[in-house]
Amino acid sequence: MKTSYFRANVDEMTGYIPGEQPRPGTPVIKLNTNENPYPPSPRAMETLRNLDAEWLRRYPTPYADDFRQAISDVFAVPLDWIMAGNGSDEILNLAVRSCAEGDRRGVVYPTPTYVLYKTLAEIQPATVFEVPYLEENRLPIDALVEADGAVTFIASPNSPSGHVVSNEDLRQLASRLTGVLLIDEAYVDFADSTALELVHEFENVIISRTLSKGYSLAGLRLGFAIAQPQLLSGFFKVKDSYNIDAIACLVGAAAIRDQNYKNECAEKVKVSRATLASKLRRLGFQVTDSQTNFLFVVPPNANAAALYQGLKEQDILVRYFNHSGMENKLRITVGTEEQNQMLLNALIPML
Ligand SMILES: *Cc1c(COP(=O)(O)O)cnc(C)c1O
Repeated sequence: MKTSYFRANVDEMTGYIPGEQPRPGTPVIKLNTNENPYPPSPRAMETLRNLDAEWLRRYPTPYADDFRQAISDVFAVPLDWIMAGNGSDEILNLAVRSCAEGDRRGVVYPTPTYVLYKTLAEIQPATVFEVPYLEENRLPIDALVEADGAVTFIASPNSPSGHVVSNEDLRQLASRLTGVLLIDEAYVDFADSTALELVHEFENVIISRTLSKGYSLAGLRLGFAIAQPQLLSGFFKVKDSYNIDAIACLVGAAAIRDQNYKNECAEKVKVSRATLASKLRRLGFQVTDSQTNFLFVVPPNANAAALYQGLKEQDILVRYFNHSGMENKLRITVGTEEQNQMLLNALIPML
C-alpha cells in the first residue's frame, strides 16, 4: 500500500467546502454566503485609492496597529485587549491551534452551527464534541460543561439558525467552563444585542468579529478578537508574524471608524429581512426569526434541494446544506429589495 504524504487526520478529513464564489461581474444574484449586498464604506474605498506605495514596499505592522487603534477608539476597549485576524476565521483557527489537542483538550460546540469549527479541530487534530441544541434553540449548558473542552465555540447569532444566545446563558457557561469560551459574533451587526461585556467579567471569554458581513469587506479578509490580554498572549505567539497585510490594516481602520455607514446598511438589511420573511411565510415557507443577514427556511413542499437547483439554473444562488437534519432547509442571504423580489419571483412558479 502506498504510504501517504499526509498525517492520518489530514487523510481522513474532508476539508471545509465554502459556498460557490463566481467571479465578480458574473451576472448572478448571490444569496449563498451572507455577504452584505451594499458596497463598503466610501471612506474605506477612499483610503484604498489613496494608499501610499510606501505601505506596500514595507512589511506591515505585525499587530495591525492602525486597525486595532480604530477598534479601541470605537468600542472603548484598551489596545492590548484587541487582536486582528486574517478574517475572523483566523481567530477561530488560532484558538484551536493555541489551546486544543487530542482527546483531553477537545473542541466543543452546540449543533447545528458553523461547520468550520469541526474542520479546524480535525486539522489540529483535537477531538470534537458536538452537543445538539435543545428544543427552541435552548443552549445545552450542562452537556457543554460536561464535555469540558479546551475550546468551546458558540456562534451568536448562530448560523444557520439565526438565533442569539442570551448573555445569561453565556455567563453561566463561561463561569462553569475550565477552558476558553469563544463567542463568534460574525453577525452581531444585524443583532439586537452583544456579549461584549462578558470579556470584562471572565478571563476565559473571547469575542470574535468580522468585517466580512456588517462592513461589506469579505474580500479584504479581516476580523478581530476582544479578550483580556492574558488570554490573547498565547494567540499572539501562534499567529503568522505578519497576518494582516498593509491594505487590510488601513482600509479596515477606515471602515471601523465609519460606524454610521455600517449601521445604515445594517438597518436596510434588517428592514429587508422582515419584508422577505413575511413574504416567504405568505408563500408557505417556515421562517425562523433571524438576528442575522440571512433567513433559514423550510419550503412548503419539503423540496429544498429542487428549489436550490431551480434557483441556480436562473443564476440565483442560495445555500443548501447536504447534512443530516438539514435536507429540507435553505439558508438565504438577505439581498437588496430588488434582489429579494427577484428571488421571490423565481420561487413562486416552482412551489
Ligand atoms: C462568516 C462567518 C465567519 C467568518 O468570516 P470571516 O470572513 O473569516 O471573517 C465566522 N463565523 C461565522 C459563524 C460566520 O458565518
